[in-house]
Amino acid sequence: RKIFTDFPLEARFELNGADARHVLVVLRHGVGDRIAVTDSTGTTYACRIDSIAGHSAVLTVEERLSCRTQETGKVVLAAGLLKNDKFEWLIQKATELGVHTIIPVQMEHCVVKLNDNHRSGKFERWRRIAVEAAKQCGRDDVPIIREVMPFTELFQAYGTSRFVIPYERETTSLAEVCHEVQQGDVVLCIGPEGGFSPKEIAYAVSQAAWCRTVSLGKRILRAETAALASLSILMYERGF
Ligand code: SAM
Repeated sequence: RKIFTDFPLEARFELNGADARHVLVVLRHGVGDRIAVTDSTGTTYACRIDSIAGHSAVLTVEERLSCRTQETGKVVLAAGLLKNDKFEWLIQKATELGVHTIIPVQMEHCVVKLNDNHRSGKFERWRRIAVEAAKQCGRDDVPIIREVMPFTELFQAYGTSRFVIPYERETTSLAEVCHEVQQGDVVLCIGPEGGFSPKEIAYAVSQAAWCRTVSLGKRILRAETAALASLSILMYERGF
């Protein structure tokens, strides 16, 4: 099991809770041992254990081992908020498939409307799910989980990226545009259960520097199926 932190590492830092116990009890490390720790920026460092007891370990960074590598560019998944635990499922699977960033997006037809009281709790849980999924599948990094973003803000933040938007009213297939997004950063944007509104599609096309709406076939897929299917195709085309 890898050790991930949800903060960028400083020269000296503390691990606590389950991570400290894991280092001590499961990995059986002690003072003076070196372990690899990956921080929230996706950078992995060799760290020396200065002290360790119970639920706390103090470590010193000795050397940088690797940096988050995205040889073919970053794949960002921007998906409409989903009901129940569907967004959690999506985070777990998208992490396994190697996305760089996941953005929960508040869209016009979202059934779920997160108010400020619920946002931070959800965010913490989503982040934990991404960490667990990254550990389980052996990734070197944890995808960045962004705070819930309104649809229009997505284009302010990522407007210069290329957007691929599965849209059930489109006839051009994802396969036809895949060769255009084999390299470089790309945002895959998926609608919620209720789909995109025509206004949102028009806004996306007018705001993004590069935008393709694509079909995923004749059948209407559930949002989470559409996200996973298109992500798998995209990752395959980009050599995973
Ligand atoms: N608007 C539809 C409705 O309310 O019946 C369905 C929305 S669908 C459940 C959720 C999202 O999955 C869509 O916004 C779209 O991004 C994607 N999607 C599902 N099936 C698709 C298809 N055949 N082609 C392209 N995108 C699809």
